[in-house]
Amino acid sequence: MTVRVRFAPSPTGNLHIGGARTALYNYIFARANGGKYILRIEDTDQERSTKEFEASQLDDMQWLGLVHDEGPGIGGEYAPYHQAQRVEIYHKYADQLLSEGKVFYDFCSDDELEKMAIKNKEEGTPPYTGKWKEKENWPEAKSRVAAGEKAPLRFLVPDIDISYKDYVRGDVTFPKGMVGDFVIMRSNGLPTFNFCNVIDDHLFKISHVIRGEDHVNNTLRQVMVYQAFDFPLPEFAHVSLLIGEDRQKLSKRHGATSVKQYREDGYLPEALANYLCLLGWSHPEEKDVFTIEELSHKDIFTLTRFSKSHAVYDIEKLKYINGQHIKKMSLEDLQKRVEPFMPKESWYFKQDTSWQQNFISLFQEKVHLLTEFNDMLGELQGESFNLTDELKEILAWDTTPQIKDYIQGQLESVTTEFVDADTFSQWMNHCKKELKIKGKPLFMGFRGVLTGQNHGADLKVLIPLTPVSVLKTRIAKL
Ligand code: GLU
Repeated sequence: MTVRVRFAPSPTGNLHIGGARTALYNYIFARANGGKYILRIEDTDQERSTKEFEASQLDDMQWLGLVHDEGPGIGGEYAPYHQAQRVEIYHKYADQLLSEGKVFYDFCSDDELEKMAIKNKEEGTPPYTGKWKEKENWPEAKSRVAAGEKAPLRFLVPDIDISYKDYVRGDVTFPKGMVGDFVIMRSNGLPTFNFCNVIDDHLFKISHVIRGEDHVNNTLRQVMVYQAFDFPLPEFAHVSLLIGEDRQKLSKRHGATSVKQYREDGYLPEALANYLCLLGWSHPEEKDVFTIEELSHKDIFTLTRFSKSHAVYDIEKLKYINGQHIKKMSLEDLQKRVEPFMPKESWYFKQDTSWQQNFISLFQEKVHLLTEFNDMLGELQGESFNLTDELKEILAWDTTPQIKDYIQGQLESVTTEFVDADTFSQWMNHCKKELKIKGKPLFMGFRGVLTGQNHGADLKVLIPLTPVSVLKTRIAKL
C-alpha cells in the first residue's frame, strides 16, 4: 500500500504543540514508509480562519522541518489543498447523497432544535427527531429549496452499530443510537468538518489518518459518511491527549502551548520535535534523545508503539532534551542559533570571532535554552558580588587575601581588554609555586576573588573572556 498521510490544520490560531505533534507523527510515518506527507488547510470556518494564522502556522512548520510533499505553495495532483477552494466538490458529493436519499433538508428553527434536543435527552433518544427526516416531507423540503429558501442538509444516521479499527484503541464499536442526524452542509452552503474531511481524505487517497484522540467521536460520524459513499476506510490511529501534571487537558494554564512561544523562548526545533514525539509514542530502544531522521525508519516508527494512556506534558523534560541537543551541536551551528537571541546592541557583537566561539563553547555544556547565553553574558559583565555563606567562607580562608593581593597587583599592569589564557595560567602557577597555595584553597580562592561565585564555568576559559575592567571592579569591592 502506498502510504499517504496528511496534516489538516484549521488556520484559526497559532500552531499548537498538540497539532505540531500530530503533524510530526504523520510526517515521520510518511518518511519511514517512503510515502507522501500532505498538508491540507481546513479553512471553511470563514469567521475564525485567517491568512495570517495560516502563514504563521506554515512558518512554524517550516521551522520544525515539516516539509510537505503536496499542499499549499507546492501544489500536487489533488489540488487545491485549501478547503475553501473546494466547496463545489463538496456540493457535488452532497448532491449525490441527496439523490440517494441519504441526507435531507431540515427546516427546523434553532428554537425547535433546542427544545427537541432537551426533550430527547430526557427520553434517551438521539437529539434529532424532526419531521424533515421523514421521507414523506422531502418533496415539500425540496420545493422550498427550489423556491430559494435556505436550509442545512442533515445526514440520515443509519440505525446500526458503527465499527472501525484503530491502531491505538483496537477495534472500536459505537452502539447504534449514539448520535443524531448531523449537518453535513450548512444553510450558508459551506460544508461541516465531518463531511469535507471525509471527501478530501478519500479524494487525496489518504491511507492512514493519524490525529488526536479528541477526534474519535468525529470518526464515528465520518465512518458513516465513508459507508454512505461506499468509500474504503483509511486506517485510523487516534493518539492520546496531552495533559498537564494535574492530569487536566493541556491548556495555557500549564504554560506555553504554541510552537511560536517555544521558538521565542530559546528551544531548538529539533529538541521540540524530539520531545513532542515522545508524548504518546516510545522508541523501540527506549531512547529519549534522537532526531527526526533517526526515527524515520520502518522498523523504528511504527503505529503500534503509540500509547493508549494520556501523555503528561513535562516542561523540565523538554528543557533537558533541549540541553542535550545543544550539547551535540557543532560550534558553528550553535553560534548561528544563539545569535538571534543576543540583543542587537549586545556587547557580544563587539567581540572578535574567537572570543565569541570560546564564549559559546564555554557554556555549551551548561545551558538548556538558547536564551541563557545572553544571561551568561550578563554574568561575565556583572560587577557585583552576591556574598553567599559559601563565598564568605572562601574569603575567610587565610590564603584568599594573598591570592587577592597578588591578582590585584597583576591586574594593574594589564593594558589589554582581556587577559589571555597563558597569563591566567602564569598567575595560577605563581600562587602555587611561590605562595604555596594548592588544591581547593587555590581554585576556590581564584574563583571567589575573580568571579564572586563559589561555582561556575571553567576558570581558565572564563577569566580570559571577562573584561579586565570588570575583574578590577569586582576585586576592589572585596
Ligand atoms: N482541522 C482538523 C483539526 O484541526 C483536522 C482533524 C483531522 O486531522 O482530521 O483538528
